[in-house]
Amino acid sequence: MSENTYRFDTLKVRAAYNSEEHNHAVSVPIYQTASYDLGGTARAERLFRFEEPGWRYSRGSNPTVGVLEQRAAALDGASGGIALASGMAAITYTLLNLAENGGRILSTPWLYGGTADGFKKIFPRLGIHVDLAEDLSDLDALETLIQPDTKGLFIESVSNPNGVVADIEALARIAHRHGIPLVVDNTFATPYLLRPIEYGADIVIYSATKALSGHGNLIAGIVLESGKFPWDNGKFPQFMEKQYTLRNMDGEPRNSLEVFPNTPFTFRIRTDYLSYTGATLGPFEAYLALVGIETLSERVRKQVSNTKIIVEYLLGNEYVEWVKYPSLPDSPYYKLAQKYLPLGAGAIFSFGFKGDEKQIEAFIDSVRLFSYHVNVGDARSLIVNSPKTTHGELTPDEQRIAHIEPNLIRLSIGLEDPSDLIEDLDQAFAAVFGKKPDVRKTSAWE
Ligand code: PLP
Repeated sequence: MSENTYRFDTLKVRAAYNSEEHNHAVSVPIYQTASYDLGGTARAERLFRFEEPGWRYSRGSNPTVGVLEQRAAALDGASGGIALASGMAAITYTLLNLAENGGRILSTPWLYGGTADGFKKIFPRLGIHVDLAEDLSDLDALETLIQPDTKGLFIESVSNPNGVVADIEALARIAHRHGIPLVVDNTFATPYLLRPIEYGADIVIYSATKALSGHGNLIAGIVLESGKFPWDNGKFPQFMEKQYTLRNMDGEPRNSLEVFPNTPFTFRIRTDYLSYTGATLGPFEAYLALVGIETLSERVRKQVSNTKIIVEYLLGNEYVEWVKYPSLPDSPYYKLAQKYLPLGAGAIFSFGFKGDEKQIEAFIDSVRLFSYHVNVGDARSLIVNSPKTTHGELTPDEQRIAHIEPNLIRLSIGLEDPSDLIEDLDQAFAAVFGKKPDVRKTSAWE
């Protein structure tokens, strides 16, 4: 048996770690060191010429972080990856690596607010313009937005906050027809529920801050690559550019494709962007993420099961206008959820509060068990009024286009007993409306 044949649940606790190489430590050690002995000038030369794997300086790579990178790659079926200091760093380095010479990225309005605002504000200042396709169900219209200088298609597989599910296979086909990669932010789904590379995605991004690590105790990002995209297709001259820093033992400059043909994208992020702008993940955060990933399946399974119970409670609730959860048969994304998320559409969803702004505020101020947080994917259940917080950067018009209604409340369901969560929501509704809600029994899942 080899690691290549291990299944997901084995890989999440075992992949990319051999205790014999680490003083037989059972738990991945935290290599809390800035630098590494180069072991002589001959070895240093081989390390710096990428002829021998090894560690030089923790700004660029670190053994604890390395296990996280390779374990995450194993879970997603990726050829390799890089872990960074945040999900935003992962998104930023990906876009810069794709379109650093100036160019366009095609995306959609269904994004985390920070991503959407960065696309609008920061990247245009750097010569990268982001076009938005405003109807994901009209793929022909989306394709017409791809221009000669478009360098990538960027989507969230399950969008923040309202669970728009992307048709990854169809979008990958479109992207590839135009010689550009499909980049998928898979933060909400996690590799347990969805592995985008299996459907043709080229780059997968995580805010590992969220359900991947799952305990709300770190900030981290990951970029993974399929290893299949033809970066030498003429659209990405930066991957062909020979660099002196990548020279071989004979001093001949090479490009990133020549040095690491299976992982040129993340290798280039490491040698160019991480090395010179330094959004480095610390080994302690990497360790926490590794411990979190060990229980990824178990956590997400229980969180999806809790979510279904809370969704059902809210669907029949007299104080709730609507519930958006893609696994519901009357969701416009039900078919896509069936295809891409057969184990469930995750533990984050939104509902429409039947009340005015003051009542929404009173409701949020009244919950006692749910935490009022902007994070998601925590072991604890979280509540947030997204239009004012996580998506508060968007103008009312941009919120309308992204289908973020003013009465939207986002929940991220944790690992508590669902009856306690329902009792908490019951008492918060009662604090606003003077009595607990009547909750009609629904057959939500039929
Ligand atoms: N992607 C998604 C879908 C997110 O929800 C977030 C944060 O909320 C990010 C990326 C950014 O990640 P981080 O907060 O780790 O920088």
